[in-house]
Amino acid sequence: MTMSMQEKIDKLVRSEIRALTAYHVPPANDLIKLDAMENPWSWSAELRTAWLDALQSVEINRYPDPSARQLHASMRAAMAVPASAAVILGNGSDELIQMIIQTLASPGRVVMAPDPTFVMYRQIATVANMGYVAVPLQTDFSLDEAAMLAALEEQQPAVIFLSYPNNPTANLFDAGSLRKIVSRADGLVVIDEAYAPFTDASLMPDIGDYDNLLVLRTVSKMGLAGLRLGLLAGPAAWLEQIDKTRLPYNISVLNQVTGRFALAHADILAAQAREIRAQRAALISGLQGLPSLTVFPSEANFILFRTPRGQATALFEGLKTAGILIKNLDAPGGPLQDCLRVTVGLPEENAVFLAALRELLQAD
Ligand SMILES: *Cc1c(COP(=O)(O)O)cnc(C)c1O
Repeated sequence: MTMSMQEKIDKLVRSEIRALTAYHVPPANDLIKLDAMENPWSWSAELRTAWLDALQSVEINRYPDPSARQLHASMRAAMAVPASAAVILGNGSDELIQMIIQTLASPGRVVMAPDPTFVMYRQIATVANMGYVAVPLQTDFSLDEAAMLAALEEQQPAVIFLSYPNNPTANLFDAGSLRKIVSRADGLVVIDEAYAPFTDASLMPDIGDYDNLLVLRTVSKMGLAGLRLGLLAGPAAWLEQIDKTRLPYNISVLNQVTGRFALAHADILAAQAREIRAQRAALISGLQGLPSLTVFPSEANFILFRTPRGQATALFEGLKTAGILIKNLDAPGGPLQDCLRVTVGLPEENAVFLAALRELLQAD
């Protein structure tokens, strides 16, 4: 008896995995790319030359330093990690989310997060065979503290993920609510600060105050999305356990040298973040000046807005035809119905986007 390949797949691959769709990123081709929260500035020729010089010293035939000590020091300084906190580096913060979940995964245990939020929490929990509890945000996308606390009591999640600011809604949750959740939870609470460069808010200084608070950072949104480098900070006893799930040499020699080089020029990235914050304010007022849009507040490098009922997909497609790629979040009946998300780009890209959107809204 031989099974067909499809029968073998159906028999061996868990149904939850078969039901997933792989993380999909549409090709940007020659479009103006305002869909993925990237920093729009690339490096100067001078900086590139200095970087390539730094790479000359890489011994590509050798395994990297398994604990990436020098890069640890650069990352701790760049992210202002309290001296008392321990740190793990990941191949992007996505890998750290995966390591946290793998450390806690066990049948019947659940991961909890508000909804809508970053899709990888659910995706990674599902792959790890864990349950996932999504607690709806309020209609203005603020955290429903009472609902979170009730769900926490009832579900006893092994870990709660809170994106701060939240992707894809761009707002900050109330810090008092976050601290209340951390103190009530028996499980871990991970504050995911991927958008830290674009806000003054952070729970990084709170790490020493709780025994279950972890803070996640990444260099991706600050201008190094191509590098794949994230940082997890928290109590040493927790990180010692989580570090056991890390594959050896997860940070390549190229990443270690490039990360150190880039963070030695952190002033350039910080200046770009300040410029992105200024452009964000301009883009928000530009969007507010267009007819019939609802623009949500942003503490990140992207802006969520709601279009008139039923028009989001047509506007998204119209922008694409005009050469601009943003993100369509519209899902009929869901909390993001009629919503689009635009990443803050170069001043001229933002202007082209606003002009095209104005034209599409007027043509309607
Ligand atoms: C983009 C993003 C990440 C992923 O960051 P990488 O370091 O690029 O893996 C994590 N969390 C949130 C909330 C994000 O928006």
